[in-house]
Amino acid sequence: MIYAGNFKTNHTRQSTREYLMKMQLHHHKIKEGDRVLIFPPITAIDNYDVNFTIGVQNAYPIQNGAFTGEVGVEQLEEFNIKTILIGHSERREVLGESQEFIAKKFNFFKDMGFEIIYCIGEPLEVREEGEEAVIKYLLTQFKGIDTEYDNFLVAYEPIWAIGTGRSATVEEIASTHNELKRYINKPLLYGGSVKGSNIAEISAIDNVDGVLVGGASLKTESFLELVLH
Ligand code: PEP
Repeated sequence: MIYAGNFKTNHTRQSTREYLMKMQLHHHKIKEGDRVLIFPPITAIDNYDVNFTIGVQNAYPIQNGAFTGEVGVEQLEEFNIKTILIGHSERREVLGESQEFIAKKFNFFKDMGFEIIYCIGEPLEVREEGEEAVIKYLLTQFKGIDTEYDNFLVAYEPIWAIGTGRSATVEEIASTHNELKRYINKPLLYGGSVKGSNIAEISAIDNVDGVLVGGASLKTESFLELVLH
């Protein structure tokens, strides 16, 4: 299983360091073959001596240049960052990133050899139309994306399940993941209100290769509850 923690706009450099050091103490308990990735806010990126992958939640598709407020590859290289989240629904919905821009970002970071966790997810009104409508919607989010790229993982995160406490049901996750795997044969993570109380049933679903976690990743205790379940 892959366990990815997305801190979003939470934690400072100091609290991230404390968090990672605490996580590192439990590293030996992680099952062989399992993987942990942490995505702290950009100000907390540093050279940490830990056995987890540190990635960024976002970056601009440029080496360096005049992009006020953005961070390019030059700034990531300083900390040896080679993993990035692309297409998170908060960037699509709140920051207004279009599919065209997301595809541009994807292709840029692909060319740089980054590991990409590519997020997709439908709004509630699409889910209410049924599974067929969901798949049709999700497939539009692969427009311009090279789904054959080697260093590529997908995170299916229904928007209505993110940060709401309401996870998708086991049946919904199972059928959407099964269908998605018919089109894209890459590691497939589920995200949306994953927590200690539902990790066992979610991780047992066929075609769930991992989880992308927001809220429950913010404290080492609650994240370890998932990682070591
Ligand atoms: C997320 O935003 O990627 C996410 C899954 O958040 P949460 O776990 O809080 O629903």
